[in-house]
Amino acid sequence: MRGREVYAFNEIIEEGPAEHSALERGLIVKNGCRLRRGDTIILDTLWLCIPCLPSLNWKDRVRQSVERLDENDALAFKRLQGSHPTRPGSTKRICVTENPEQRFTNNAWTLNDTLSTGRLRERLAVGLHEISFGNHSCSPSVTVSLPCLPDGYTSCGSVKLEVVRELMQGQEVTFTYLHQHDLRKPTSERRSQLKARWKFICQCELCTKPEGSIS
Ligand SMILES: [Zn+2]
Repeated sequence: MRGREVYAFNEIIEEGPAEHSALERGLIVKNGCRLRRGDTIILDTLWLCIPCLPSLNWKDRVRQSVERLDENDALAFKRLQGSHPTRPGSTKRICVTENPEQRFTNNAWTLNDTLSTGRLRERLAVGLHEISFGNHSCSPSVTVSLPCLPDGYTSCGSVKLEVVRELMQGQEVTFTYLHQHDLRKPTSERRSQLKARWKFICQCELCTKPEGSIS
């Protein structure tokens, strides 16, 4: 049976210095809302989408695309962090960068399209607003399906989060920044991948389990 489609989150706190408000960020299940396995959360969002081609001066294209955003969306882009916190009480490092390319790559998703020629094309996209506030877990509570996005600097598209275990109000919705198959790797390997790319030490439920208790 298909799950319900729900909108599930508390308002994201945007006040205060970025370093502080980032600690409060995360997709938290709002009051009176209970998510069941199989539910789908739909997030309509604006995407910045940049081709990832070796020959392309993509840094300039990131700058150009950011300059074309309207005021609200430009602000949303500016609020993106260099790395995201992972609750609870982690030793994460929040890196706030003014550099648009770094801000872009730190928050980017990889889109793979199969062209009519059968070749694979890789693009990077950043979703503004809620999806970029989601925190990582190596034992995530949702899986993510990205939209098909047309070519162009910006486009709208819904991202779907499918709930894989029950979540009560106040609990955090998490997904993985790694590939799904990387979640089967040992803790030390997952942590070093996350540290290298996103600059934080994962403190998720799986990473903080005592060695030997992981089944
Ligand atoms: Zn972890």
